[in-house]
Amino acid sequence: MDGVTSARLRDLPSVDAVLNAAAADALVERFGRPAATQAVRAALADARAALQAGGQVRFAAEDIAVQSFARLEADNRSALRPLFNLTGTVTHTNLGRAVIAEAAVEAAVAAMRNAVALEFDLISGKRGERDDHVRSLLCDLTGAEDATVVNNNAAAVLLCLNTLAGGRQAIVSRGELIEIGGAFRLPDIMARAGARLIEVGTTNRTHLRDYRDAVTAETGVILKVHTSNYRIEGFTAEVGTAELARLAKTANVPLMHDLGSGVLIDLAAYGLMREPTVREVVADGADLVTFSGDKLLGGPQAGFVVGRRELIAAVNRNPMKRALRVDKIRLAAIEATLRLYRDPDRLAERLPTLRFLTRKREHIEAQAARVLPHVARALGGAFAVEVMACESQIGSGALPLETIPSAGLAIGAKSGGQAIEDLARRLRALPRPVVGRIVCDRLVLDFRCLDDEQAFVANLPHGDAEAPAPGPSPDGRR
Ligand SMILES: *Cc1c(COP(=O)(O)O)cnc(C)c1O
Repeated sequence: MDGVTSARLRDLPSVDAVLNAAAADALVERFGRPAATQAVRAALADARAALQAGGQVRFAAEDIAVQSFARLEADNRSALRPLFNLTGTVTHTNLGRAVIAEAAVEAAVAAMRNAVALEFDLISGKRGERDDHVRSLLCDLTGAEDATVVNNNAAAVLLCLNTLAGGRQAIVSRGELIEIGGAFRLPDIMARAGARLIEVGTTNRTHLRDYRDAVTAETGVILKVHTSNYRIEGFTAEVGTAELARLAKTANVPLMHDLGSGVLIDLAAYGLMREPTVREVVADGADLVTFSGDKLLGGPQAGFVVGRRELIAAVNRNPMKRALRVDKIRLAAIEATLRLYRDPDRLAERLPTLRFLTRKREHIEAQAARVLPHVARALGGAFAVEVMACESQIGSGALPLETIPSAGLAIGAKSGGQAIEDLARRLRALPRPVVGRIVCDRLVLDFRCLDDEQAFVANLPHGDAEAPAPGPSPDGRR
């Protein structure tokens, strides 16, 4: 180390000197003294290391205080902060699935801020039931006799299997032994539920007689599973719910149907692909139906169980129910989300998931064209940006083969190589991270889920002032 460097090291201010600098007032005010002190120590250590490496560092007390502020601010940014989901996957499991409707957000916030009659009957003044808040809504929307709600659909499946087939047999087609992702594999869930798995049929074909031959005095349930995230095509056969329900009834065994994504409306009426609705499966005779709250249904994470009254009562008596129940915050949001379904005409306006799914390509394309100059300016000359037609998907394992015509921006790097990965990383580091997907060395930003165009533009690096602010889009959405 030369003499100049050691002199500079000696000149570094002390921690106290930095904390006494004028710029440190805001630091202490905002983050508190312990955190401020720690950040100043870290900033001084960085300055020391940079000096020893021969760098030119600004080390006046004020500069160190400003650096400490920036450091704490960056540390304080939650990784759970809002981001722009431009992946083209509408209910992206890794990005928190459904975006919650405004009415549900308000209901959840009110429930958070206040005491609510969660398990309290306001009329009698006596103890009430948690499920009462959503039971009648769920029954109305599905035609079921009774309903209950737990933490998620995985919990609903576990709880129902344990209730119906704990210590007994559960019959499932080999074509429906699904893995949903992560640790949700049906055979494992069955084992944890204490049910003995009886596989019937083959991977591609299962017939009614396969089920019939498997029913014994030990059978606790016949389980049908919606193969949400894959499809078997070609020489295939499966037994429909109605047919299976007749067999179950004759055999005096309950039929459970795990629907996965819970669809409460006819999606075809909104120009989307058809999926069996919960109401249809109930009408076909399934005794218990389980489905998710945060997939196509567009609500918060939840698992619903609807079906026959005595079976729901048995599910509710299972001690595991308590371990899987939902809290007042989510219950309030679930109730508000389900209420939106009572007005199907305005559902696409109010429920973000449906709003996103029903946006037309030409509207998204027009939005991409409006945003393009802002993105091009923000990225500078090293990138080529163009409007591109692309395909969105629903996500969370629903209708995996269906895509929806969409549009967005495709960004290519003129230098190629690492540049696109670096750009993707830079966009993920923005105050509001932007997450797209890389396809063939280009970063594709699918605008299907871009609600707030102004916020997107303002969030771009060096957000430019000269370009005209984008107006409301012609389809009345932002
Ligand atoms: C998604 C899914 C589940 C799990 O639901 P979560 O809400 O993620 O817990 C279970 N079964 C099927 C068929 C599914 O598609």
